[in-house]
Amino acid sequence: MKGFGMIELNKVGWLEKPVPTITAMDALVKPLAVSPCTSDVHTVWESSVPRKNLILGHEAIVEVVEVGALVKDFKPGDKCILPAITPYWEKVESQMGYHQHSGGMLMGCQYSNFRDGAFGEFFQVIQADGNLALLPEGVSLEDGVMVSDMVPTGFHGADNAEISYGETVAVIGIGPVGLMAVAGANLRGAARIFAVGSREICQKVSKLYGATDLINYKNGDVVGQIKDATHGKPVDKVIIAGGTLEAFEWAMKLVRPAGIISNVNYLATGEYIKINRVDWGLGMGHIKLTGGLMPGGRKNMEYLANLLAYKKLDVNPLITHRFQGFDKIPDALMLMKDKPRDLIKPVVII
Ligand code: NDP
Ligand code: ZN
Repeated sequence: MKGFGMIELNKVGWLEKPVPTITAMDALVKPLAVSPCTSDVHTVWESSVPRKNLILGHEAIVEVVEVGALVKDFKPGDKCILPAITPYWEKVESQMGYHQHSGGMLMGCQYSNFRDGAFGEFFQVIQADGNLALLPEGVSLEDGVMVSDMVPTGFHGADNAEISYGETVAVIGIGPVGLMAVAGANLRGAARIFAVGSREICQKVSKLYGATDLINYKNGDVVGQIKDATHGKPVDKVIIAGGTLEAFEWAMKLVRPAGIISNVNYLATGEYIKINRVDWGLGMGHIKLTGGLMPGGRKNMEYLANLLAYKKLDVNPLITHRFQGFDKIPDALMLMKDKPRDLIKPVVII
């Protein structure tokens, strides 16, 4: 079979591989719709981990082709959402509530890391009963793909920020992940949401998801622009979904005592995050800094897909570019790398 992936650092291309073999709890699946992720771009062109001959792709709607003898809830022909994170559920980290790190730091993230993924004609999903979720009726393939990664990641940013009714939140970075952080903050009841980005399309769509104030970081000091709008008051929470390590310095200056800074950005470059001791309340400000990989799992996917099925969340405005056919995967990935001004997210219907 063929797949599109990373030949080595800074080099992508088509790969020829055998169809994966599955064990008793796994499923063999084929992609029906996929989307490239900014994380794939970091992994190939910005990371220093020398991965080789790895088929990329972790956002997909799949069709089940074959299941192992112990798989109970899925059968060939089922259309399923693939969560970007597909851990081993029996490991101690999963039992401790951090399935994202099942087997070690970030090891729940298997695709685009060490397991061939959704840009292959076929691929393996381990522990299928725990890692797949049926695509609800009435949810399209292209919308369904957004549930793999964009919705759970943005919502994880909002969940970790523990947003509650009436709060003021700053979301730094409003690509597809940041836009879903805006939507998550809005669903959790935030009153005022600052959306920080420069692409006009992202700014426009952020309004649909509940942003009340648009901040363009290219127009100067982000902290100053937000503090001007709040008459100097701090915000309750900051979600970081883009930008450089400097975003953490802004966040520390923006957040209130006992506020939360919640990062979901993949920090692919730079060394240290600087925390100003005064901004951090001389170490006594009760300001929490957290960062997380999105949660996977069947239950999470089913619940998030319910939001689409019952029209509580419309992810379609995220999709700005559409491709038809497996051979178009490289075009979609390169689009994600080049980030033209009119792009939010591309989808390839296989
Ligand atoms: P995008 O590149 O589409 O969006 C990034 C956003 O950050 C844009 O709004 C961009 O603005 C903004 N930005 C860029 N530079 C700056 C800057 N200097 N200051 C402030 N804002 C800036 O990325 P995605 O939304 O696709 O992904 C966001 C991040 O989430 C990526 O790092 C990705 O790898 C990561 N990710 C993390 C996951 C997790 O589980 N934690 C899962 C999936 C993705 P502009 O409008 O100018 O483009
Ligand atoms: Zn991703």
